[in-house]
Amino acid sequence: MDSITELIAEGKGKKVYATENPDEAIVFYRDETYAYHGLKRGRIIGKGEINNLICEHMFTMLKEKGVPNHFIRRIDKTSSLVKRVDIIPVSVKVRNIVAGSLAKRIGYPDGTHLKNTVVEYNLKYPELEDPLVNITHITAVELATREELDVMFGYALKVNEILKETMKEIGIELIDFKLEFGRYHGQILLADEVSPDTCRFWDSRTHEPLDIDRFRHELGNVEEAYHEVLHRLTGNVLKNNEEEA
Ligand code: UDP
Repeated sequence: MDSITELIAEGKGKKVYATENPDEAIVFYRDETYAYHGLKRGRIIGKGEINNLICEHMFTMLKEKGVPNHFIRRIDKTSSLVKRVDIIPVSVKVRNIVAGSLAKRIGYPDGTHLKNTVVEYNLKYPELEDPLVNITHITAVELATREELDVMFGYALKVNEILKETMKEIGIELIDFKLEFGRYHGQILLADEVSPDTCRFWDSRTHEPLDIDRFRHELGNVEEAYHEVLHRLTGNVLKNNEEEA
């Protein structure tokens, strides 16, 4: 395995380290999480291990179905080897059903079906609480080109179609999700993660959230929800409370 050199990124649920190979990085998924731009912090036992397995499953499936991404291979319980991309500082949110910040912004209740898919762009500027922008803002300040944004838009819609279908088959409704992309030797790759930390998943029958919203809104059974998504998606069952020292 490549040995790690420096920490290059730290997100809500993971740390990314550079390696001696300049084209590769290692992602460490963590149990720690936070919400509301760091105001609420906590730990979801087993989340690091579960998200590592869910991301392996998602990225492998997405690659097979034509969405190039940074995933190379899972290394161990909580880490994976990925291609070291130059992250584009614009996140892409895809929405099928109203929830979260969209409900607040447009005043429609959670659960409202959208006639068409909504795609939003946010700048990855945490000090400004990741402002919502449109394509002309992004090209105006040269964070990405129109061509790059077209590629990201196309992949975002493709991920939506693949994920909606995959989740539907296991009794889960895909409400919305957030993606990040990076540049890698002239190519745009899907990066970051696709997990219950970055997607809203509702049980199709009960409409109960099976994602990070259980932590955000203190709905209880947070760990159980993550285990449930992993189990339905991959058949894996992890032993409960396998806490790291
Ligand atoms: N999301 C994310 N990281 C963020 C903010 C949002 O992964 O920093 C995901 C979130 O889990 C949801 C989607 O993006 O699946 C849309 O989130 P929204 O804008 O509604 O914001 P939120 O209500 O999550 O703050």
